[in-house]
Amino acid sequence: MVEVKERPKTRTERTEGMAHSIRKIGIVGAGQMGNGIAHVCALAGFHVLLNDVVPDRISEGLATINGNLARQVSRQRITDEQRQAAIKRIAPANSLDELGDCDLVIEAATEAEDVKRKIFAALCPLLKPETIVGTNTSSISITRLAAATDRPERFIGIHFMNPVPLMELVEVIRGIATDDPTFEATKQFIGKLSKQMAVSEDFPAFIVNRILLPMINEAIYTLYEGVGNVEAIDTAMRLGAHHPMGPLELADFIGLDTCLSVMQVLHEGLADSKYRPCPLLVKYVEAGWLGRKTQRGFYDYRGDKPVPTR
Ligand code: NAD
Repeated sequence: MVEVKERPKTRTERTEGMAHSIRKIGIVGAGQMGNGIAHVCALAGFHVLLNDVVPDRISEGLATINGNLARQVSRQRITDEQRQAAIKRIAPANSLDELGDCDLVIEAATEAEDVKRKIFAALCPLLKPETIVGTNTSSISITRLAAATDRPERFIGIHFMNPVPLMELVEVIRGIATDDPTFEATKQFIGKLSKQMAVSEDFPAFIVNRILLPMINEAIYTLYEGVGNVEAIDTAMRLGAHHPMGPLELADFIGLDTCLSVMQVLHEGLADSKYRPCPLLVKYVEAGWLGRKTQRGFYDYRGDKPVPTR
């Protein structure tokens, strides 16, 4: 009997196979980014499982998605049928075990390397060998995170912008080992979300945050040194540089803990004193005043309208 050997797949065939087989997406971390990513994936037709270490975060995330989809209907961006279909595609996952049959898992947990490493150590053994693992990190080395997994070839940075349903860009970062099929599958996945992609090399904070966060940190130094108060700094940059949001308002929106982590990664990774996190930023984070998500940061959001805290 003649043994018929199967022809090995070409690189294009492997890539197409991976891209077409992305149907079910797991998201680890249901905070502001995780719920935004779940929202756009479900709207684009993917099945989504949303996980968080804090169960309340999952229910809060689902409630936020519901509210944001309803707003999109009222603004006639989507139909009510699309909203209902998207909601049906998202389910809570109370443990990582439930993500076992996902084709792509995107980690969107707190911006701390030890947190992310622990997630990958627990998650990867539960996944299919072909599953792609993406991270939404704003700044941490993709190569280093990939090395902490069992699949550096199928590990990639997929950096969404905040708020995810509104922002057009996704930054994509390959680690040193990320293979072409993973990169191509990611590219096609982003296309299905109707987002644009910018490719960044794997250096601290990539492109957007390498430029944006030192500007925000400088705005905080401007406040710290008394050059202007919160209102003056934000008004100056809104009206004087035509930024849609002032830098301190933007810092509150991003989350001051995330801003501090990104500055620390830049400072440590590039060893240049120009990236030194402003001591006032450190103080706000130590106080637990993390911006909008804790109702207080450079503004106090507990009343009817935001009031500057300095
Ligand atoms: P967030 O604080 O709103 O949410 C983080 C979530 O991760 C929390 O709900 C927390 O409970 C959860 N979490 C922590 N440890 C976990 C674990 N072990 N398992 C599962 N969940 C865990 O933060 P965010 O703003 O959504 O940021 C998440 C990620 O996205 C970070 O890496 C951040 O750098 C990145 N990012 C943030 C922004 C932004 O503007 N905030 C923009 C782009 C990327």
